[in-house]
Amino acid sequence: MTKHYDQELDSGYTMTTVMAEAARCLLCHDAPCSKACPAHTDPAKFIRSVRFRNFKGAAETIRENNALGAICARVCPTEKYCQLACARCGIDTPIDIGGIQRFVTDFEQQAKMDILEKGPSNGLKVAIVGSGPSGLQAATTLLQKGYAVDIYEQQAKAGGYLTYGIPEYRLPNDIVDFEINRILNLGATIHYNTTIGQELTLAALKTSHDAVILAIGASQAKMLPMFENNAYTETAVDFLARVKTNQGHVTVPDNVLVIGGGDVAMDVATTLKLLNVPQVTDVVYETFSEFKASKKELEATQQMGVTIIDGYVPDSINDNTVTFKHRKINGQIQVQADKIILAVGQVADAAHLDLTLENNEVPFTGYQTTDPKVFVTGDIAQGDKTVVWAVQKGKEVAETIDAVLGGH
Ligand SMILES: Cc1cc2nc3c(=O)[nH]c(=O)nc-3n(C[C@H](O)[C@H](O)[C@H](O)COP(=O)(O)OP(=O)(O)OC[C@H]3O[C@@H](n4cnc5c(N)ncnc54)[C@H](O)[C@@H]3O)c2cc1C
Ligand code: SF4
Repeated sequence: MTKHYDQELDSGYTMTTVMAEAARCLLCHDAPCSKACPAHTDPAKFIRSVRFRNFKGAAETIRENNALGAICARVCPTEKYCQLACARCGIDTPIDIGGIQRFVTDFEQQAKMDILEKGPSNGLKVAIVGSGPSGLQAATTLLQKGYAVDIYEQQAKAGGYLTYGIPEYRLPNDIVDFEINRILNLGATIHYNTTIGQELTLAALKTSHDAVILAIGASQAKMLPMFENNAYTETAVDFLARVKTNQGHVTVPDNVLVIGGGDVAMDVATTLKLLNVPQVTDVVYETFSEFKASKKELEATQQMGVTIIDGYVPDSINDNTVTFKHRKINGQIQVQADKIILAVGQVADAAHLDLTLENNEVPFTGYQTTDPKVFVTGDIAQGDKTVVWAVQKGKEVAETIDAVLGGH
């Protein structure tokens, strides 16, 4: 079957197959899967509800803990979180927790269930800079606790990398829009096209609000100096954002070189194949034994017909020809392409935000900065750089603010 960029690759469970998958759960007392979910989404509890066909109860459990449960169900690297801890790993294969969570949250959406509720006003007001998953979860938790919330977002749409990064074949736009709209409808005011540090200063937000959360993510692409101003080169996040914004309707030449070996590079390579680009070559710094991308992503990319060359580092560029040297042996290759996509990482842009970052993170644990009114969360706070961690940090920063301001 031909696959398309805007079709979710995994078709998900039916009522019959989800019940069969839930029936495999061993109903462990100590629930190792629940302990291994960074956001405490509590799979042991929601799978138990599914086994009793109580889908409403299952959805309530997910929402109690995770405002982005339908998104996490699709994008969580479950093999290193909940499913890694599943007791069935020792018997055959782990329970497909992400798949069951997806069925429940799809059911919730179709049944038009409205589980999130705003708390009675406590008269306090928080500004959130950035509307990625962490800013959105922080907004939800604060609204539930009775705070008024203003979100400031430099883009025209909310969601951060949910909206402008993760490709549609893994995370459909309608799922992202649905979860975001539900959070905004709880009562957050969002100011689009507003960059804090440019249109409005951090100092102004501190004056108008009781606390400010910086949830700015690592929203800029890293660039290698030799590729700067090269007419054939585009960064991975710019390319993915362009494809996502245009729902796959972009023109791409027939021969594309991708440079990078993380999950973002795999997303680019797979996206190119789904856009029917015949020749996609990915040159990777790491050797196969050192690969950064998950095994699942790497295998999927190879199955799509992407040529992966491992162990090479770019040495020079001449128009559309890149010369690479092998990192360990004495050898070099030249690759000529009609387009070059650079996937070598993302960085935070904290300019004008009075924030010192080391390796893209604040150099302290916890959420409150040395300025008692300013807090951080998401990818710039310490911890994994994933959506489910962004959710957990969003809840925790909101709870920290509540403890500091004494909102109750
Ligand atoms: C291509 C790609 C694929 C990924 N795939 C996965 C995956 O499958 N699973 C997974 O768990 N994680 C994945 N990730 C990682 C995940 O998306 C991030 O960890 C997560 O989005 C971080 O959330 P955040 O809220 O900290 O920041 P972001 O999502 O980066 O959002 C930050 C927001 O802040 C805004 N902003 C920044 N500066 C300012 C400013 N000065 N003023 C106003 N607004 C500002 C930005 O515009 C952006 O909307 C992927 C990332 C990428 C790039
Ligand atoms: S939120 Fe993610 S990590 Fe947590 S239980 Fe669900 S799929 Fe697993």
